[in-house]
Amino acid sequence: MTRPRIIRCVNFKPEVTYFKPQGIPLSSLEEIKLTIDELEAIRLKNYKGLEQTKCAEKMKISQSTFQRILTLANKKIADALINGRAIKIESDFIKMNEEKMRKFKCEECKYEWEEPFGTGKKGIEMSCPKCKSKLVHRIDSGGHGFGKQPWGYRGKK
Ligand SMILES: [Zn+2]
Repeated sequence: MTRPRIIRCVNFKPEVTYFKPQGIPLSSLEEIKLTIDELEAIRLKNYKGLEQTKCAEKMKISQSTFQRILTLANKKIADALINGRAIKIESDFIKMNEEKMRKFKCEECKYEWEEPFGTGKKGIEMSCPKCKSKLVHRIDSGGHGFGKQPWGYRGKK
């Protein structure tokens, strides 16, 4: 069964993304990949103890999809615990999102700074934090997708 790679709504960022059993060399270690939505399912249901309907709601997915993700996640974790496998949490797209800072440069004092997406500020309303000049422009390449956070990651915590 293949599942399309849809990025779900995840509202947290894991601090630790790798778990390794002690005393087993990496070369003979089998790695289990846990996706971020699987971890989110675990977090909401098993850790926070929310109702399944609430969990599905929070992740903006159907209950049956949530159930499927959770079952798979539990199975993977059980497999790791029973068979002594490493767990790797896929967090690639989180990093990607963190890189999506808008970079600006002031023409007057040459000061450069970054603004994250979703601050509500538009490029044209920006002013230099140093000299307050309005002669600022965006210097990063990614001009489109302005202010968009397509999968709903709501910042830190
Ligand atoms: Zn300036």
